[in-house]
Amino acid sequence: MGGNPRYRKWTASNWRGAAPTVADLRRSGWRVYAMCQHCGLQMKVDLERIERSKGAGYELWGRTVDCKRLHCWGKANFVCRPDRSEEDVVMVRI
Ligand SMILES: [Zn+2]
Repeated sequence: MGGNPRYRKWTASNWRGAAPTVADLRRSGWRVYAMCQHCGLQMKVDLERIERSKGAGYELWGRTVDCKRLHCWGKANFVCRPDRSEEDVVMVRI
C-alpha cells in the first residue's frame, strides 16, 4: 500500500476518476477533510451525512465550502487521502 511509484504520478484528475462521487469516496474508505484556503483551518467532513442529504452521485471534486472559523471569510477545498497515495490530494476540478 502506497509503495507503488505509479501512483505518485497521479494527478487530482486521475484520483477523481477512481472515486468521482461521495458514495465512491465512502466505499473506498479514503479519509476526506476540508481545508480553508485563507486560514488553513482543517474541518471534518461527514461523507455519510453528505450522501444522505445530497445523494450518492454528489461530487465533492471542484467544490468549496465556507470556512467555519469565526470571522474568516475564506473558502475551503475538500482534500482526500486515497488509500494508494502517500500524499493528500486537494480535490480541485481539473
Ligand atoms: Zn478560514
